[in-house]
Amino acid sequence: MKKVFQLIIVLLVFSCGSTQLQQTKPENIVKGPDGVKGGVEVEEEAPAIKDPQIPGDSQAGTVSSKTETPNMTYSSSLMVGELMNYLASDELQGRDSGSPGIEKAAVYIEKIFKENKIDPYFTSYRDTLSNFQKTAYNIVGVLEGTDAQLKNEFILIGAHYDHIGTKQPIEGDTIANGANDNAAGTTTVLELARYFGNSKTNKRSLVFALFSAEEKGLLGSKHLAKKLKEQELDLYAMFNFEMVGVPLVGKDYLVYASGYERSNMADICNGYAGENLVGFLPTAKEFNLFMRSDNYPFHNEFAIPSQTFSTFDFTNFDHYHKVGDEASLMDFEHMAIVVNKFIPVLEGIANNPQKEIKYN
Ligand SMILES: [Zn+2]
Repeated sequence: MKKVFQLIIVLLVFSCGSTQLQQTKPENIVKGPDGVKGGVEVEEEAPAIKDPQIPGDSQAGTVSSKTETPNMTYSSSLMVGELMNYLASDELQGRDSGSPGIEKAAVYIEKIFKENKIDPYFTSYRDTLSNFQKTAYNIVGVLEGTDAQLKNEFILIGAHYDHIGTKQPIEGDTIANGANDNAAGTTTVLELARYFGNSKTNKRSLVFALFSAEEKGLLGSKHLAKKLKEQELDLYAMFNFEMVGVPLVGKDYLVYASGYERSNMADICNGYAGENLVGFLPTAKEFNLFMRSDNYPFHNEFAIPSQTFSTFDFTNFDHYHKVGDEASLMDFEHMAIVVNKFIPVLEGIANNPQKEIKYN
């Protein structure tokens, strides 16, 4: 039954309104070692996308092989697994801001951007935080839009890539790997960057930002939002991804948006998705999650729709800020589906002549 459901989801993804979509031959659907179909779309005419040669332990998590990476544009559990297994590996020591471990993550993110033709936003990909005592960097890339006018308007797609480092040992484990929080959001942004960097189907320009020091009080996003505002960036909307590594249970939507009631963001997303992709989670409003992630500084500086998308609802994952937040507990297939369902959504929003997302 689960397989049938997965197949339906895959078919739905393929029917979601992107002009990139073509009929997919069964042999072009990447199968993981366990036979999982990862929502993969292969565009036959697309330019070759290199295997990113991602370092890390590919034996962890649910994917154990990277030999089948084809020339693809859409995400898959295989691609997600490679990114996740490195970003949440013990080698990165919990990605504490200003540590050698997060430096490895930064170098890795820069490499992925470069391989997928995402340009540095500033003179390099690095944006040094001015509000943190240690040396820490946001990693910021840009993909110029294809339309002469609309390219002057920007959509920011972000996630924090830092985590909390090490903690008191539990059964000998001291590393808080931060797989769900927030290697998952980071991976989502990197997969979207890979798609758009190779498809170049965005008329508006896209900024891909991985924030540091979120765990210290949203410092990276505060710094970048202020800086971009001072530079008078024409920012249209901000999409933030946070804790999307494990699916919600018993909901009739795939992800929730923080600040759901503040704008028509969910309606616009669902229109492009052709389904109930983004929903309202009462707990998100109750806990005021709108003010607790990296969307909030952009809301404050720009007063434009800035919202966080997540699949963590405080009941579906027990390892929040604990050493047990490991890649092996993540659902890579779910993550690939999130990426793939947001591709036509972001494409539609980036290409619509109007700024259709508005605060109420
Ligand atoms: Zn987080």
